[in-house]
Amino acid sequence: MLVETFTELRDQMASQMAICEMTPELRHRIFLGSKGRKRLEEILGEALVGIARNATSENKTLREVTGAVMSACFSIIAILNARRKDEIQHRALGLNRASLAPVDQGLALYQCRFYIEKTHKGYLSFYVGHGTVQAIELLNRLSDLTQDFVAMAKGPSYSPLEPAQRSLFQIPLLHFRATDKPAYLKFSTTEAAADLLRAALGDHGDVRVSAHMFRRAYALIFIYRYEHGDLMALSQQLGHFDLEMTRHYVTDGLLQTGSVTSGSFAQRSPDEFESWQEEIADLRKEIHTVSMERLEALVGEVIDGKENYSGIFVNLVKRFHQIHGRSIKYKAMGPEDQARALTKSLDERGHAFVPNRHGSCLASSTRRNIRAACYSRAEGVLDRAEASAHVCGGCPYHLVSQAHVRNLESDALGLELSLAVAPKESVVHMVGTAKLKNLRRWIHLHKERMGMNMGQAYAAA
Ligand code: SF4
Repeated sequence: MLVETFTELRDQMASQMAICEMTPELRHRIFLGSKGRKRLEEILGEALVGIARNATSENKTLREVTGAVMSACFSIIAILNARRKDEIQHRALGLNRASLAPVDQGLALYQCRFYIEKTHKGYLSFYVGHGTVQAIELLNRLSDLTQDFVAMAKGPSYSPLEPAQRSLFQIPLLHFRATDKPAYLKFSTTEAAADLLRAALGDHGDVRVSAHMFRRAYALIFIYRYEHGDLMALSQQLGHFDLEMTRHYVTDGLLQTGSVTSGSFAQRSPDEFESWQEEIADLRKEIHTVSMERLEALVGEVIDGKENYSGIFVNLVKRFHQIHGRSIKYKAMGPEDQARALTKSLDERGHAFVPNRHGSCLASSTRRNIRAACYSRAEGVLDRAEASAHVCGGCPYHLVSQAHVRNLESDALGLELSLAVAPKESVVHMVGTAKLKNLRRWIHLHKERMGMNMGQAYAAA
């Protein structure tokens, strides 16, 4: 809608005879009379008083709405790609009109070139997900309109900038003096960004924006994505999260072969490879911090005797608690210190959260995990590609929360719907029926362990 509004304004203003002499009053009248303004007001539920802020008015302006939309795009790109602030919005190094490129549009596969600030100090291409693509495409369209407005202001002698020179965070100015300089959105200082954060976070909205916070937010989403209702809603809104690619690198390392991404990195120079490893190490550190906070919360609840989890890993925590309980020092601690001490010892053994839709995996990253249900004796490593509710169900490193059970229920519902349309005697129907039976069994078991309401659908499973 914002793009349509700017397009309408561009067309109406371009049709004026003397564009460079257009007065602020005339621009204001054109904006007030536009259909775009009315539609934006309907969406926002409040009046827009003009293009830019009038000191006497409290109401919103087109400029502020534009800033808020760009800030939202900025946040989506930064968080979903674990990028630092300047890697996105720096006017020379950040995203530009040429950053996003399709790899295969049929498969909705896109790559984006990001500047890597700390390590590589150059550009690397990353595969990006649907949410990122949508945000960049919106900024691309605003960038094209910005160029149109600049061209209108500068007159016929103006030669447009190359796409790679056009920052995506240049705000469309509706002034038409040839001397006007472009304005850039700076996420940390623009009032629109602060407004957006306040609207999104309420009382917690007064946060100081640091270069690191988006990587930390990424790590939080990475760990909590399947267990947090709001993140599930965000996931749906954005089509899907863009975490699998980083998960691949962060959890499985760089040495995997055969995937598109590993292939593309295998062709890189030793310097690029090294900086990429540093980049992963940096991100891994953030994810590890969040994972330990999560583990400490879990351990605390288990020590408290809360039955909020199912899965055999809970038994491992209980056993560790018992073993530690033989120490006088541990016994003398309060529950919070015990949780911290136990978490430290689990951390030393390499246990950390790896989130899955059906549950979290807490297998050790430093031990051989030969008791893990997906352990491949032939390869001597975990074969996490085998992970499923059924395979992990009997594994000592599996942990299930109520949110995971809701995921399983929604999977079971999807399976039921696909079985309803599959021919009765088909292999698809037979395999699906067996899978559904299994899934229901696990749902029932996990619900029973957590004392959850069975619900009518699965009570008799
Ligand atoms: S079976 Fe599942 S829980 Fe166990 S180690 Fe493999 S992925 Fe993790």
